[in-house]
Amino acid sequence: MENQFLPSYTIGSNAYEAVPEVCGFYGKTAVVIGGNKARKAAEKRLLSACKGALEVTGSFLYGDDATYENADALANLKEVQEADMIFAVGGGRAVDTVKKTAGEMNKPIFTFPTLASNCAPVTAVGAYYYPNHAFRSVWYRTRPAFHTFIDTQVIAEAPEEYFWAGIGDALSKQYEVVFSSRGDTLTYSQSLGIQLAHHCSDGLLQHGEEALNAVKNQTVNKAVDYVTQNIICSTGIISNLVPEDYNSSLAHALYNSHTGTPHEGKYLHGAVVVWGVLVLLTMDGQTEERNKLYDFCKRTQLPHKLAHIGIKDPTELVKNALIKPDLRKVPYEVTEAKVMKAIEDLEKLN
Ligand SMILES: [Zn+2]
Repeated sequence: MENQFLPSYTIGSNAYEAVPEVCGFYGKTAVVIGGNKARKAAEKRLLSACKGALEVTGSFLYGDDATYENADALANLKEVQEADMIFAVGGGRAVDTVKKTAGEMNKPIFTFPTLASNCAPVTAVGAYYYPNHAFRSVWYRTRPAFHTFIDTQVIAEAPEEYFWAGIGDALSKQYEVVFSSRGDTLTYSQSLGIQLAHHCSDGLLQHGEEALNAVKNQTVNKAVDYVTQNIICSTGIISNLVPEDYNSSLAHALYNSHTGTPHEGKYLHGAVVVWGVLVLLTMDGQTEERNKLYDFCKRTQLPHKLAHIGIKDPTELVKNALIKPDLRKVPYEVTEAKVMKAIEDLEKLN
């Protein structure tokens, strides 16, 4: 038997107006959990949409990172235990924390991304960290959120660097999934996911700059709608259709290594990931695709050299990346020498 729960969502500058109809089926009460900034950005609109239809019985800060400890603390709150459903409001780490809480409690979860920075709102999997912010593990719910409400005006009013880094993260999907699955015999749902993956990057490269410019001015247009769905939904649908081992590869291994390797400065997930995608494409000899992406990164100031991610000598970064689970499934052996050579070649482009 195979269960297949695919994401469902509502998108638009009035998306929350669909909440009573969609969520009313699952009960009468909800608690809101999220980050402070996220709740401030979305709660007023959300509460006004719920008025007269659903009672919001509490609003809580998720913590400061996606940790098992924060997820457990939330599950111990009386209001959370008594609510019919949980509304997770915010970015990836808030949403992932609540996924674990709701999953362990077997409660319906609805997600309200306030940033277009990753596919966390629509995926069944979460990424978790130790209280010291070092990566801990991934954890799977049996299904993704019951529904996701994407208010594009809230997204456009969020700090633009999240949208910018979100594009960087979404650019990894096509290349990592196709690379990881290369040569495999696929099941129906896997091949569906891989078909979708083949079409991720073109739309981002085509509409990315126009969307970024709109978000800079906190406005919404068709490019923002397109790119937001690409960042949150395309990547999320693929993630749910393919096995964990296909979902990430060298780019995410380099990111996960970067969190634990000394470096200068602070970087958003997608900013490091997109640099890793350039390394992957270089190593894999996909020069034409790499050049397209490289030009896009240059135009949008996404990282495309070591200095942009605060690293001088990449040796340790690469050594630590090679032992990450993201590289469990590869079409050929990925060695330190190959990755170092790719990084060197990429640096020469600058
Ligand atoms: Zn990612």
